[in-house]
Amino acid sequence: MNDNFKTKEDICAHLGDDYARFLGAIVPPIFQTSIFTLSDNQGYAYTRGANPTTEIAEKKIAALEEGEEARCFSSGMAAISASIMRVLSKDGHVICPLNAYHPTRVFLSEYLQRFGVETTFVSGTSIEEIEQAIRPNTQLIFLESPVSYVFTMQDMGAIAELAKAHGIKTIIDNTWATPLYQNPLAFGIDIVVHSASKYLGGHSDIVAGVAIASKQMIAELTQERLLYGACMDPHQSWLLLRGLRTLPVRMRQHQENAMKIATYLDQHPKVTQVLHPGLPSHPQYELGRKQLTGYTGLFGFCPTGSADAIMEMVNGLRHFTNAPSWGGFESLVTTPGVGMTGDQSKLTGIPQGLLRVSIGLENVDTLLEDLEHGLSKI
Ligand SMILES: *Cc1c(COP(=O)(O)O)cnc(C)c1O
Repeated sequence: MNDNFKTKEDICAHLGDDYARFLGAIVPPIFQTSIFTLSDNQGYAYTRGANPTTEIAEKKIAALEEGEEARCFSSGMAAISASIMRVLSKDGHVICPLNAYHPTRVFLSEYLQRFGVETTFVSGTSIEEIEQAIRPNTQLIFLESPVSYVFTMQDMGAIAELAKAHGIKTIIDNTWATPLYQNPLAFGIDIVVHSASKYLGGHSDIVAGVAIASKQMIAELTQERLLYGACMDPHQSWLLLRGLRTLPVRMRQHQENAMKIATYLDQHPKVTQVLHPGLPSHPQYELGRKQLTGYTGLFGFCPTGSADAIMEMVNGLRHFTNAPSWGGFESLVTTPGVGMTGDQSKLTGIPQGLLRVSIGLENVDTLLEDLEHGLSKI
């Protein structure tokens, strides 16, 4: 990392600035061009391969993740599927946590079947369970920690060590923590992927992804991006850069608001369980303290009461919108465990009645009053 950029705040604000290169503009332009002339060769040819606006975002995110290089993709899933394809070959075997992001699981367990790839799903909370799942053809342990549905964690250092001993590659979906609060490459993980549609963009206005790894691995992964054509559009890169500039202040506020609300819910008589890695009541609280340097705004809780009562509460909230996704400025609620039977709950590992909230940047007392009012009607 450049000496001028020892802190993440400085990286977010200024890494990649080059005023002289852009006619003194404080904000770099959107290079909305597909092609570059070859006669005045500046190292660019075609935006599917490389684009100057996108490269600034890649430099910032690589530095934030303490990785050598990064590549932006058209979405989080594009970064995830390209990274998985990079490390797998036909008839391989993958180990993945049971509640990883649903499209990731579908890609591994259904889509890749046609290439003879098999996936074993594990809880992810026991290193012995992972060790037992390893087969001679295991090529990848895919991690997502914390898991964005149930907020369990995997021990990155122990798993990376185990994987290396068996010649297995590791990829982690680090979307929940952001590069501010968890840097998996330092724990020995091979590739870090993010959906930049969440906190990195931060304003619910882009779909974007990024992968970070060693120079060598990124050189290889650039082939998947080129061949699948899943490059980031320059305008999307510009919006991502705009989001990154305020990432540290936004995350501080998301963290503070969410901790306050989770702590309040944790002692509420009408809440049976709060799933937040930063609460001492979380079963893996100590592991979280080893791996995470902060907590973000997405967590789960289970109100008491019937599915109907919980849905009535959700629909009555005035400051939480029932919508998918998360990580933007606005508070959201989804209902992953509502209406689940006991059997379904056992099978999926999702607690019955689970609500997932993405705590936004609104005034925290406004959000607390809204939840208090909702819970009082159950
Ligand atoms: C949203 C999300 C993704 C997928 O990202 P897209 O940008 O929507 O493709 C992957 N992992 C997690 C944990 C997510 O929340």
